[in-house]
Amino acid sequence: MKALEEKILQEGEVVDGDILKVDGFVNHQVDALLMEEIGKDMAEHFKGQGITKVFTIESSGIAPALFTAKELGVPLVILKKQQTADSLKTEVWQTEVVSYTKDTSYRLTLAKNYISDEDHVLIVDDFLANGEAATGAIRLIRKAHATVAGLGVLIEKAFQPGREKLESQGIHVYAQASIKAFENGKVVF
Ligand code: 5GP
Repeated sequence: MKALEEKILQEGEVVDGDILKVDGFVNHQVDALLMEEIGKDMAEHFKGQGITKVFTIESSGIAPALFTAKELGVPLVILKKQQTADSLKTEVWQTEVVSYTKDTSYRLTLAKNYISDEDHVLIVDDFLANGEAATGAIRLIRKAHATVAGLGVLIEKAFQPGREKLESQGIHVYAQASIKAFENGKVVF
């Protein structure tokens, strides 16, 4: 997606060798107009597939996922990152996920109320790197005997194994911007 690639080139910042900071338009400050455009593009790519819900993982995926859900006319469900196994009042599905950027793990949590075996779910997230977050979301969807329509990400780091991991499980992956490499602190698409 041209507008996203341009924004990454203008405002993205490569840190620690392999992390792209997009705090100025996705992760901290949010460019609402760009997110709307992203949501339209995502919905256009996945339309007509009988998607009943959009899932995202808190918190960076929420803005683009919300616009995607609005365009598809379906609810957005935000998967929670629970740090501890605290006593939850609602019944939940949970799975352990290793966080790529923070080098920690969390329990990805979904209340059973918000999924049924009739759901066909599109997962939307900001980044695809090693595919751990998306694989965790897929595990939750499958625990509930629902089906996965695919994964849509804003930015794929194609030099990491996420896409391969997901495609080998039969998951369709759509990336709006695909980064081939970081060379001398610069993004190469
Ligand atoms: P994965 O689970 O695919 O290894 O990593 C995806 C998650 O890690 C995303 O939800 C995102 O929050 C975070 N992430 C991975 N790589 C980057 C990156 O280069 N920049 C930022 N801002 N987040 C990243």
